[in-house]
Amino acid sequence: MVEIVRFENYSFKYSNSSKVSLKNVNLTINKGDFALIIGKTGSGKSTLLRQLKPELALGKSVDGKLTLFGGENDNDFSHVAYISQFVDNQMVTETARDEFHFVLENMGVDADQIHSKIAEIASYFDIVDLMDLKEDQLSGGQKQIINLASALILNPDILLLDEPTSQLDPITSEKFLRMVEKINSDLNITIILVEHSIEQAVFFVNRVVLVDNGSIGMDEKTDS
Ligand code: ATP
Ligand code: MG
Repeated sequence: MVEIVRFENYSFKYSNSSKVSLKNVNLTINKGDFALIIGKTGSGKSTLLRQLKPELALGKSVDGKLTLFGGENDNDFSHVAYISQFVDNQMVTETARDEFHFVLENMGVDADQIHSKIAEIASYFDIVDLMDLKEDQLSGGQKQIINLASALILNPDILLLDEPTSQLDPITSEKFLRMVEKINSDLNITIILVEHSIEQAVFFVNRVVLVDNGSIGMDEKTDS
């Protein structure tokens, strides 16, 4: 098994707070894992996830060590994609089509290939009809799917999802998780998913980690 993330005796404090928000965390994520992080409101799930997106962490490590990709490339966080639990204002441009265009152009994809690439992504994610709507014309769940598609264009090694199903009905939520499972297995992208409860997501993941008051309370493999 290839280790992709390793927290060792890791503690973290927000700059604007006197209290330590993550305490002595020991956690290893392996390449190909689909890990579920659960825990109560305010327990530190989002804080833990954002350690892998340092520009969003808003504080610093006060103890311990975080190693990415087994220590190669001096902790290069550029291969980590993150979808926040807050769905609004994550799009840089007005519509999904422009957003995908922007991302593909920045990646250096040839202009004559961009259209067909966009069509391919829209069809894979079943969002053909949403491509030209503006952000304020989309539901929370539709935005989450567009954000997911947009994050995946960059072909990340690790995808962080913070409560992506919180605004989805149970059927759409199941569909979303099935899509994430497919991404995990087809594209071999390591997934770390945060949810409040274990109920629905547990059937899709290979391990469950409980965060309790800034510490890891439990870390178990599931048999899926
Ligand atoms: P939820 O389920 O509500 O999303 P969570 O488990 O994701 O909760 P975090 O957002 O990680 O919880 O918060 C963990 C702790 O860190 C809380 O005590 C919270 O008050 C504190 N915290 C979160 N964000 C900040 C911030 N930007 N500045 C200071 N403290 C913060
Ligand atoms: Mg949170």
